[in-house]
Formats: sequence, C-alpha cells, structure tokens
Amino acid sequence: MASYDFDIGVLGGGSAGLTVAAGSAQLGAKTLLIDKEGRLGGDCLHYGCIPSKTLIRTAHVYHLMKRAADFGLPDVEMKPIDFRNVSGRIKSVISKIQDHDSVERFCGLGARVEFGEPAFIDEHSVRLNRQTYSAKNWVIATGSSPLIPQVEGLDVTSYLTNREIFYLERLPSSLIIFGGGPIGIEMAQAFNRLGTKITVIQRSGQILPKEDKDMADQVMVVLKREGIRFHLNASIVSAQELGNERAVVVRTDDRATVTLKAETILVATGRKPNIEGLGLDMIGVAFDDKGVKVDERMRTSQKHIYAAGDVNGGYLFTHAAGYEGGIVVSNAIFHLPRRADYTFLPWCTYTDPELASIGMNETAAKKAGIEYSTWTEEFRANDRSLAEGEETGKIKMILNEKETPIGVQIFGPHAGELVNEWVAVFNGGVKLSRLLSAVHPYPTISEINKKVAANFFSKKIFSDKVKKGLKFFFNLRGRACGV
Ligand SMILES: Cc1cc2nc3c(=O)[nH]c(=O)nc-3n(C[C@H](O)[C@H](O)[C@H](O)COP(=O)(O)OP(=O)(O)OC[C@H]3O[C@@H](n4cnc5c(N)ncnc54)[C@H](O)[C@@H]3O)c2cc1C
Repeated sequence: MASYDFDIGVLGGGSAGLTVAAGSAQLGAKTLLIDKEGRLGGDCLHYGCIPSKTLIRTAHVYHLMKRAADFGLPDVEMKPIDFRNVSGRIKSVISKIQDHDSVERFCGLGARVEFGEPAFIDEHSVRLNRQTYSAKNWVIATGSSPLIPQVEGLDVTSYLTNREIFYLERLPSSLIIFGGGPIGIEMAQAFNRLGTKITVIQRSGQILPKEDKDMADQVMVVLKREGIRFHLNASIVSAQELGNERAVVVRTDDRATVTLKAETILVATGRKPNIEGLGLDMIGVAFDDKGVKVDERMRTSQKHIYAAGDVNGGYLFTHAAGYEGGIVVSNAIFHLPRRADYTFLPWCTYTDPELASIGMNETAAKKAGIEYSTWTEEFRANDRSLAEGEETGKIKMILNEKETPIGVQIFGPHAGELVNEWVAVFNGGVKLSRLLSAVHPYPTISEINKKVAANFFSKKIFSDKVKKGLKFFFNLRGRACGV
C-alpha cells in the first residue's frame, strides 16, 4: 500500500478548510492545513461576514441615534464619522475571533499548519515552499474572490472590493455600487447610513435576484426611503478615472445612457473560484468558471480529492462551507458515504430589516411545477415589533398541495434569528399544528412564526362548517353583537 506524509491535506484555512482540519485532526487523522495568506480564518473572518456584520451594527447604532426622537428621546447632535474608528472596531472584533482560528489552536488539535502557495505536482502531492507534501486525501477549500466584470476603462480606474472596503482611512462621500446582490445591498445600506451617497447599478429587474420579487422589492422600498438610488435593468458601459472622482456610464432600461459620478466604486458583481495556480489541470480535477466540480459527497473527478466551500461554486455561505466540510470528514475520515442535502439550507441578507429564507420560495416552487399556497403575517401586527419601533416587513410561508410547509421567507427585524425556528421545524419534521400549539413567550417577535401558522389553521378552525357542527352538538347561539 502506498504511504503518504499525511492522511489528509487541506488547501485553504477558511470556513470549509478549518472545519475539515479541526474534524480530521480531532479524529486522529494526520492532518496538514495550508493557507496562502499567512493567517487563518479566510474571507468570512477578514473580508466578509465578520467585518460586514460589524460595520452593519455600527451603521445601525448611528441610524438609531439619528432617530432618537422616534423613541421619545432628545435629538442627538450628530458628528461626522471618522472611518478609522469604525475600521478599528472591525479589526478588534476580528482579532477576538482570530484567537479561535489561530495556528496554536489548530496545532493543539493536532493539525500541522503551513503558509504559502501550494501547487499539485501529482494526484497525491503538492509542492509548497520548495518542499513536497503528500497526502492520501486532499481537500480544495480555497474559497472565492470578487469577479471583476469586463467594463471598458475599469482596468485603469480605481475601485474597491470586499477586500478593501472595511479598511478605508476615510468614509467616501459617494459610492457607486456595481451589483445588487447581498454584498452590494448590505454595503449600500450600511454606508448610506454612515453618510455616503449611494447609487446601486443592478443588471436584472430586481435587487437580491435569488429572492422572490415581492420580498426583494420590500427591501428596496426601505433602502429607497433611506435615500439610496437604484438603476435596475441597467448595464455598465464604461468607467473612467477623473482625478478626485470616478465616472460610470450606465445604459438604463429605456436604452438611454446616463453618466454617474462618485468618489469611488464598489464592485460586487459576483464571485469566482480561487483555483489559479493550484495545477488542477495537471492532475485531472475538473472545473469550470463557477468552480471545481463535485458530486454530492464533495468528491471531485479525482475521488480522493474533495472540494468544499465557495470554491465548488455551490451555495456561497459560511454555513454551507462548514456543512460541506463536515460532509468531507464523514466521507474521507469515517468512510461513511454521506451526501449533501441543501433542501433546507437557510440564508439571510443582513439589511435592516433582515431578509431570511429557508426551503422553496415561490419562484422555486413555480419552477418545480408545485401547486402551492402562501400564508403571510405582517410585523406591524406583532406587539413586540411595535414596542421596538420595528414595524416593517412580513413573513411568508409556502405550503404544497398537501398543506405541508415547503419554505418560509421573512423580511423583518431579526429575520436571521427567526428563521432558526423554521430550521428546527423543517429538519425535525415538526408538524405545523405542533408549532401552532407550542407556547411562545409574550411579547416576542418570534411569535410571528406561530401566527403565520395560525393564519393557515384559522381558516379551517373558524369555518362555517365547524361553527355549524358546534351549534348542532352544543347548542351554541351565535353572535352577541352586530349582524
Ligand atoms: C462582504 C461579504 C459578506 C459576507 N457575509 C456573509 C454572511 O453574512 N453569512 C455567510 O454565511 N456568508 C457570508 N459571506 C460569504 C462567506 O464569506 C463565504 O461563503 C465563506 O467565507 C466561504 O468559505 P470558504 O472556506 O469556502 O472560503 P474562505 O473563507 O474564503 O477561505 C478560503 C481560504 O483559502 C485561502 N486560499 C486561497 N487561495 C489559496 C491557495 N491557492 N492556496 C492556499 N490557500 C488559498 C484563502 O487565503 C482563505 O483563507 C460573505 C462574503 C462577503 C465577501
């Protein structure tokens, strides 16, 4: 039997790679973890989830300060923002989490960590810093990078991506955002709230194109109300450097062209897999523009090499990367043929209010040819939402023809937390009647989960048929007031 230096080698120390390395090392596999950045944590910690959510929180506090009078408080004197303090806070949150993702911790778990840029030299070996490392199994978990669109002049125009935006020295006075997906939209609201003038250019007819239009449109209404400008169905024709500002020519939906000017540009038009320089061609690992091709067990076209996280181009979320990392550990270390199932993979866009989703939305149900019904409940009918001053939004529950829930979308306060009850409902196979009969504390925003279920049952419970039955059996005498 061939012998290798390691049982498993992991390329990339982000959400997926760290999950695999921690799991494998703790199970006693001789584990090698390699990252090119010189630190662990990946995009989520350094340029993604953590800095964005920290920034969003700062922007939310600033926004609430401006709204002090809405809560019966005296007006607050708003001073301009020193962005160095904002990015200082971002760095301090990152450094706390970095302890958890440190080399020392992984070494303590039993994994060897190396930094540098590895390249496969054969199906079982990589070359790194002039040394060769072989492993029985490999995992490609190198994540993704911003996809820069082909726009005339953009290559000679300065712009920002998610790698720079959290570490600016100064708050930009104005910002044109390319792309109305989750990253662009979260940043649009946060920077707008801090005082940057924002214009979003979106290719399709709605922002957040993976969401149902009615939900995405509600987000846009809130953002427009806060002062953000949108160009939908718009294409970016060219970009130009104009000294202190940048000019962007946009073709709008009526085929007219407009020239927009702003201090800077944020490119948030999608992601591309980090596969350059890995030598995948040479070892016969198949990939395309979206990512490394994998089967349901995360195996690539070379069955002992796995690919997990953003690099496989599936669901670009940290929790998906972690989930896929777990699938790899089951298959590669436990040798249990575990398959990924994304049916109830939830996600959330952290605008204020948040937009969370699990299961099928209407668009997906239509595409799958499923007969469905929708049930909604508005946050303005939730007592706690009113007390919190958070009245915007709704929950939408989708039932199939058998009246079984197949999906839920929530646009409202703490939607990312509220959706977790549905995570339990869907994954635990909990019946809707059980959710309805479970007592929820009052007053909580999460009562809305129970209320949307109640809306479905009330149609049945309070029907004329039931009323007639009760009247017949128990001699109920009907209305005591009005007609
Ligand atoms: C602005 C922003 C906000 C986001 N917010 C959220 C959110 O709120 N919730 C959420 O779930 N997701 C969010 N995401 C997505 C999330 O960050 C990614 O889905 C997640 O980081 C993917 O994990 P990963 O392990 O696949 O890749 P990464 O975390 O990017 O890790 C990849 C690692 O591989 C290393 N690497 C790259 N190339 C090589 C190479 N050639 N050799 C060795 N190592 C290499 C990198 O240095 C990195 O450490 C956000 C992303 C962005 C950009």
